[in-house]
Amino acid sequence: MRRGHTVCSIVIAVAVVCALAVGGSGSEDGTKPWKDEKPWKDGSRNGTFDGLLPGFASYVRQSAGTTSSRLQDQLTVLRSFSDDPYPAVTRVLFTEHDVKARAYVRGLMVDAGLEVTVDGMGSIIGSWRTDRADWADRADDHDSRTHVVVMTGSHTDAIPLAGAYDGVVGVLGGIEAIRLLREFDGRFRRDGGDPGGGARLRHPVEFQVVMFASEEPTRFGLSCVASRVYGGVLGREGVEGLRDGGGIGFEEAARGAGVAVDVEGARAAYRDDGVTRAKRRYFVELHIEQGKELEDAGLDIGIVTHIAGPASVTVSFKGPGGHAGGLMMRDRHDASLAAAELALDVEGLVKREGSSDTVGTVGSWQVSPNAVNSVPREVVLGIDVRDIDGPRLDRVVQGVKERAKVVAEKRGVEYAVEVTNHDAPATSSGRVVEAVGLTLIVLLVVLEDLV
Ligand SMILES: [Zn+2]
Repeated sequence: MRRGHTVCSIVIAVAVVCALAVGGSGSEDGTKPWKDEKPWKDGSRNGTFDGLLPGFASYVRQSAGTTSSRLQDQLTVLRSFSDDPYPAVTRVLFTEHDVKARAYVRGLMVDAGLEVTVDGMGSIIGSWRTDRADWADRADDHDSRTHVVVMTGSHTDAIPLAGAYDGVVGVLGGIEAIRLLREFDGRFRRDGGDPGGGARLRHPVEFQVVMFASEEPTRFGLSCVASRVYGGVLGREGVEGLRDGGGIGFEEAARGAGVAVDVEGARAAYRDDGVTRAKRRYFVELHIEQGKELEDAGLDIGIVTHIAGPASVTVSFKGPGGHAGGLMMRDRHDASLAAAELALDVEGLVKREGSSDTVGTVGSWQVSPNAVNSVPREVVLGIDVRDIDGPRLDRVVQGVKERAKVVAEKRGVEYAVEVTNHDAPATSSGRVVEAVGLTLIVLLVVLEDLV
């Protein structure tokens, strides 16, 4: 696809049409069917938005100019909320610029006609649901158990010296996506008088865009704090234990930004209790590519099929140290040489797996006393391993532990290994992947002259 401002439109269209296709889908494989599985009164099957895709894609095409310039303007404003000058963006959670960005995003959601709420973790959620009048026909199904919620969104906090697009594209794109959807929906009447061949959104779908709080680990050392709470892997105690470098707790920092933390409340809203699970069936995130695979291939869009699980391992080696001039080579137990051997072993362990999806990085080295004329006494290594395949990831982590022991024994140094984080990889929903794929095909046809 040709690069340029139309990319914005295409990206938005992907979000929206994908949301439509997904929103109409039935139950996920392996989950129990729910009431919306039955055919609709007018004969159209729930889950079939085929008639809607081309009509909506056409609408996106008509709106491409407005949409693109609006998005560009918003990107320009958002990137100005930064501790560092453009092109760098530094926007650490709950600091002055993050607060400004939050207010700005909230304003955009209101402007797009969304109902805005801030949850107990400080995430901002904008919602729009299809016309309630339609739902009234289906009073029996008209409750939170059956209506589908399709969610999109990302984050706007940014690590030091980040770029202007990380996370931001997913938030702004999501808002714009729902805005277009809302406009599109307003153009058609329920009786089907649609000259463009599109169908109206008859289904009770609620679209939500979320700006997740605390996605980056910059301030509190833990990534995806809000999402972890929603996912049930981080509770109140965990949040209370979070402290930044200055000793300020998460709750206090949030309060300073005008957010009243309520971990249980936020968690309850997402809890898998058989009710809310049915509500939030799908999540689609737009994100810039952080590697260069697509760029090298000349592609604008890719579909994420798997999410790598990250593991963090801290290894320390300790030796007696000594003076660089006085300590003979034969008498040394140099902690840094043990670390160097292990670093090469990490590379070896990863490469041995033979998959480009396995990566390992020895990204941090703390050397003591870190003086040119001193044999290193202690080295602490921060090792990051990632893979989309669980057993492979486990194997490499286990290998790092074993090699640390072997190297320590060989070099006569003490060692300690701690796995500080080990998240399992995840596989994207087949329906979401399918919907994005379908969307891309429709876009290529309908937006042919734009791409
Ligand atoms: Zn991001």
